[in-house]
Order: sequence, then C-alpha cells, then structure tokens
Amino acid sequence: MTEIIVIGAGLTGLFASILAADRGAKVTLVTRGRGGLTLSHGCIDVWERSTPSRALSRLRSNHPYRRAGLGSLQAGLEFLQALGRQANYPFIGSISRNLRLPTALGAIHTTAIAPHSLALGDLRDNTPIVIAGVDGLRDFFPELVAANLRRAGIAIDESFQLPLPMPPTQRDRYSIDLARSFEDPDFRGEVARIWKPRLSGIKRLGIPAVLGFKNSQLVHEEIQERLGVTLFEIPTLPPSLPGLRLESLLHRKAMELGVFVIEGPKVVGRVDGSTTAPRVSGVVLQTVGGPRTLTADIVLLATGGVLHGGLVFQQDGQVRESVLDLPVIYIEGRAQWTVPSPLDAQPYASFGLSVNDHMQPLGADGLPIYSNLYCAGGLIAGADRSEEGSRQGIDIATAYRAIEVALG
Ligand SMILES: Cc1cc2nc3c(=O)[nH]c(=O)nc-3n(C[C@H](O)[C@H](O)[C@H](O)COP(=O)(O)OP(=O)(O)OC[C@H]3O[C@@H](n4cnc5c(N)ncnc54)[C@H](O)[C@@H]3O)c2cc1C
Repeated sequence: MTEIIVIGAGLTGLFASILAADRGAKVTLVTRGRGGLTLSHGCIDVWERSTPSRALSRLRSNHPYRRAGLGSLQAGLEFLQALGRQANYPFIGSISRNLRLPTALGAIHTTAIAPHSLALGDLRDNTPIVIAGVDGLRDFFPELVAANLRRAGIAIDESFQLPLPMPPTQRDRYSIDLARSFEDPDFRGEVARIWKPRLSGIKRLGIPAVLGFKNSQLVHEEIQERLGVTLFEIPTLPPSLPGLRLESLLHRKAMELGVFVIEGPKVVGRVDGSTTAPRVSGVVLQTVGGPRTLTADIVLLATGGVLHGGLVFQQDGQVRESVLDLPVIYIEGRAQWTVPSPLDAQPYASFGLSVNDHMQPLGADGLPIYSNLYCAGGLIAGADRSEEGSRQGIDIATAYRAIEVALG
C-alpha cells in the first residue's frame, strides 16, 4: 500500500487526503493547526470575474489552473459534490455559470458552487427578497444588507429582526451557538411557530447562516417547509457556519476512510539519509518531546500561502517555504510586495512555488526537486486568488491533479 504524508488541514490538505485514501493509499495528515476553511464562506469560488469555464482556457501557462488542467478542476468538483450528496449536504452550481449570492455586508459574492441553503439565495432569481436578522446574533444587520443590495439594484421588499425562543444571554450570540440550538427539533418547532405569522405574503426570505451544523440540510428543509417560504442562508462574518460545515464534512470523511491525523506539530524539515536523492523519505515533526520522524513513499505539501505559514515573509526581504526550504517565486524587496490600494491586485499574493503539470515543485533548472514530492493549494505561485476569486477552485483542482499523478 502506498504511504502518503499530507501536510496541512485546509481545504487542500483535507480534500487531498480524502482523494488519496479513496484511491487506497495509507494517508497520514499532519497539521500544525486548522486551515482557512474556518474563515471561509463554505462555497467554491472558481473564477469570479466572468464565466469560469470560458476564462480558464485563456490564462497564462504558469497559472495553477493551467498547470492542473480544466479536467482536474471538473473531476475535483464532481468528487466534492458527490461527497456532499453522500453527507446529505448538497452543493449546487457548476463552472459554466456563477451563482450570485448576498453577503452579510450586502455585497454580491459570485461563486461557482454553494451549499444548497446558500444557493437558494441566488440573486439571478428575480423573486423579491426579504432579509431578516435574528435577535441577539452579533455582526448581522438586516438593514445594512438590504440597503447595500438595493444600491446594487436588487429588489428587497423589507428587512427586520426575527425573535428567538431563547432566554436573554449575558453576551452576544454567535452563529455556532444558534446552530447548536437549531439542531434540537423542539427548538425548531418553536421557531417555526413564532416566525410563521410574521412572514405572511413573503415568498423568499434570507436569514444569517445559523440553521444547524452537522444536520443543516435536514434543519433547513424542515424549517423551510414549516414556514412555507423559500428560505436561504447568508454566511455571517467568521466564524462562518458554511465554512465550518465544509471543514467538518471533509474531516468526517477523512476519518471514515482511515486517514490518520496528527494535529499540533509543525513540520520542520525532511528525513535525510534513508533513500537516495532526489527523493524525500519523510518529514520531521517538531513536537514537545523533541523531533519525530515520519516516513512515506509520497509527501504532499498543502501548507497554504503566507496566511497559514506555508510561506514565511522575512524581515530581510526574503520569502521562504516553511517545510523544506524550497525555492519560492517572489519579488525581491519588501517595498515591492504590496501596492497602496487594498482593492488592487497585490504582488505578494502571487508568490509561491513554481510547479510543473504534475504539481511537483521545481528548482531553478525547471526540473522537479524531488520525484516523490507534490504540492497543491495556496502554496502554488502564479495566481492572485483574492483578485481572481479563484481560491477554492485552485485548491480543488491542484489537489486532484497532485493525487491523480502521485497515485497513478
Ligand atoms: C487570515 C485568513 C484570511 C482568509 N480569508 C479568506 C477570504 O476572505 N475568503 C476566502 O474564501 N478564504 C479565506 N481564507 C481561506 C483561504 O482561502 C485558504 O487559506 C486558501 O483557500 C488556501 O487553502 P489551503 O488549504 O491551501 O491552505 P490553508 O487553508 O491556509 O491551510 C494551511 C494548513 O497548513 C498548515 N501548516 C502550514 N505550515 C505548516 C507546517 N510547517 N507544519 C504543519 N502544518 C502546517 C496550517 O496549520 C493549515 O492547516 C483565509 C484564510 C486565512 C488564514
């Protein structure tokens, strides 16, 4: 059985671990901490600015999508959608046309694939909308959402707060608190009883994403049916339930497939000696008890970019790859890393590892550095994911391609 070490537990690492275990590999997932899914909206952004499938074929050749290929993106998305169906958490959408979903600030998020309860808020549907907040939830203001959406030309009938059958608390409520309450059938019944009379004449209602955690599809369907409206969720500011739901779904699937997870240690280098270069025989973990070595046939880096430590931006103006000190593509001189307007494309966002079409990190000579080392996700150079709206699509496509090549 092929043994593979995956480093990093963001969308890329979790997804790659599942793909590898599903293909029969023995997978060890090592991660210092949780990845970016906890901060994400739980959707799969592929290409925000235009029809994704058309735009991707025109990208420059070093873009991660071009490296991984459109086929990997499509196959990866199909695999993810199948995981969603199995877990009764369906994902809606495709790369032929983006959905347009409202955000908690009343902006419009264009995304390729979204969980069902979010996708029902697609603003391409012209049915007038009502936006409601729920009492006590922090950071969700229905009037703000409605005002900004109206400014963008979306028909919003009204906005208001809905009460909850809960005693007052001594702190703000978070979406995760409410999600736990919504998992309780009695609570849901009581909510439906209180809300229904206030929703007369309303066809489409958007509320913050609080409708359950592990059973959210069931919770959503039940409340929607009882209220008799099309009910959609809007992801709140972090911690955002849809991101946490996706993380939990992937984590559970990885466990089910036998992935062994080591959480906490930082991976600080490679195991030397036992095999001949240019192969990586394994990695070294930094644990409280001292260094621990892990060996495997294949190593996949899914450590993300600068945000979670895959890349280290140093004071001396150098950018280092944190695990194996691989060569990074970056611009020298810290002054060149950013441009003044936060809304413009930021040069640092495209820094990362250069890879070939097999997702193998390349040296200065353009050849793979190690024959059994692969990389995927936010660590790969050549894309400004925020500007493009391409983050999760790149994670999925590159993870799929890396595992497909590594495991044959
Ligand atoms: C501050 C922040 C803001 C974000 N904002 C947005 C946003 O606005 N919109 C959005 O869609 N997404 C956002 N994200 C999520 C982001 O999209 C993802 O980080 C991105 O998709 C890349 O995913 P990834 O799986 O490649 O890496 P990440 O999700 O970054 O995960 C990297 C993983 O690698 C682990 N790791 C790194 N180095 C080591 C090491 N040496 N040893 C062991 N483990 C290691 C980390 O602990 C983590 O688990 C944000 C993330 C962060 C951190």
